[in-house]
Amino acid sequence: MPKVKGEIKIAIETCKGCELCVHECPQETLAMSEELNQRGYHFAVVQDESCTGCTNCALICPDGAITVYREHRGKKTPVAKISDVKENITFTIDGR
Ligand code: SF4
Ligand code: SF4
Repeated sequence: MPKVKGEIKIAIETCKGCELCVHECPQETLAMSEELNQRGYHFAVVQDESCTGCTNCALICPDGAITVYREHRGKKTPVAKISDVKENITFTIDGR
């Protein structure tokens, strides 16, 4: 599972159905709708939760129809801190 989860919002009435975002997405997150928007275009839709928030789709979209959000998961938090060491020290971890 990717460390960064992305989510996008597509302004479907702005979309002109060029499909650039579908081809640009490395995760194959996007597809084109069966339905038409009010302007008569098939529009981009999210088909699964594989988005990593890479922003490729938003950058390629000529109509600025995509907004990307990112959520960082599994953020590293310190579990131990060693400080004020004045001599060489040796650690043994799991018998190694
Ligand atoms: S942000 Fe990246 S991974 Fe997510 S839908 Fe757009 S191109 Fe695909
Ligand atoms: S790149 Fe933009 S205009 Fe083209 S299909 Fe995707 S959302 Fe629609």
